[in-house]
Amino acid sequence: MIPIARPQVGEEEKALVWSAMESGQLAQGARVREFEEQFADFVGAPHAVAVSSGTTALHLALLGLDIGPGDEVITVAFTFTATASPILHVGATPVFIDIEPRTYTMDVDQLKAAITPRTKAIIPVSLYGLPADMTAITALAERHGIPVIEDACQAHGADRDGRRSGNWGIGAFSFYPTKNMTTGEGGIITTDDQQLADRTRLLREHGMRERYRPEILGYNFRMTDVHASIGLGQLPKLPDANARRRAIAARYDEALARVVTPFVPAGVTHVYHQYTLRVGKASEFGSRLEARGVGSNVYYPVPVHRQAPFRALGLADTALPVTERMVEEILSIPVHPALSDSDVDTVIDAVNDVARELGPPPSDS
Ligand SMILES: *Cc1c(COP(=O)(O)O)cnc(C)c1O
Repeated sequence: MIPIARPQVGEEEKALVWSAMESGQLAQGARVREFEEQFADFVGAPHAVAVSSGTTALHLALLGLDIGPGDEVITVAFTFTATASPILHVGATPVFIDIEPRTYTMDVDQLKAAITPRTKAIIPVSLYGLPADMTAITALAERHGIPVIEDACQAHGADRDGRRSGNWGIGAFSFYPTKNMTTGEGGIITTDDQQLADRTRLLREHGMRERYRPEILGYNFRMTDVHASIGLGQLPKLPDANARRRAIAARYDEALARVVTPFVPAGVTHVYHQYTLRVGKASEFGSRLEARGVGSNVYYPVPVHRQAPFRALGLADTALPVTERMVEEILSIPVHPALSDSDVDTVIDAVNDVARELGPPPSDS
């Protein structure tokens, strides 16, 4: 079976992890600082604050902005649950809006309509490696004085209109093993806001600047030096790994027929965290691919507003017709850099065979 994801760590990561372990400095220390500097440089952001996961990066960004009960945070439901769970953790109210059918990212017209005086943050998701329309979203948010937190957990190294994901104000990244780069578990906040960087550093570390003297109620959301060492080995390889993803995607774009391949707007460098097709009946398509030895997956089969914690708040009836339609029709196929050229050929043949069997893709495309 050709897997949908296969994390790659090499000798560089092993050597760095080993030296961190030999140094005796295992928890957050110099390696984390070095990783923060290198990642901030890579993104072009002045500050980066490393944390324990992408989820805690989003959580800390909201806490850092002092968002809580009574505040509304606008986001999408067509994403992983962790985009929205931190909104509940801080006691704020999620407001789910729909996506654009071609990019699967936040619909800017809907955003305009959803902003109220209680809107305290906007979390667009740069999904599958394609940046949301950050140019339009940040321009609109600026006019209203609302901060934007880009969920860039799937967009390491992606660019839009000459700016990198994570460099639009506030970005949150994940380094979970299946992402475009990993630290095992880990995350990072990138920002141009010195005050937010200071406050998130404080919150990350029990609210303490000085040991045992907390200034505010904090958390332990730290990254360890062992995990940062994996990241220091991974980051220099990210450009080549992303280039390989793009090369595989280009082959798929050219060779796949009778399915809707990913749309890439002008000015976008897509980093293909996923290569996602619209195929009509996604689950049937997926089982037929599996029978041909090709792994695939639906990201994500239940939109966030209908998941239990959000359903319990009465959000399941939010009208999101594009989201509801896409969860039935989309299917991601393997695009990770561990694929060989012959794996890519196998995927192409399998997708084309199944598409021939199951008939044409959705008609409005
Ligand atoms: C992976 C991911 C997260 C959460 O990251 P973790 O490191 O797993 O906590 C959040 N949002 C999106 C869109 C993701 O893909």
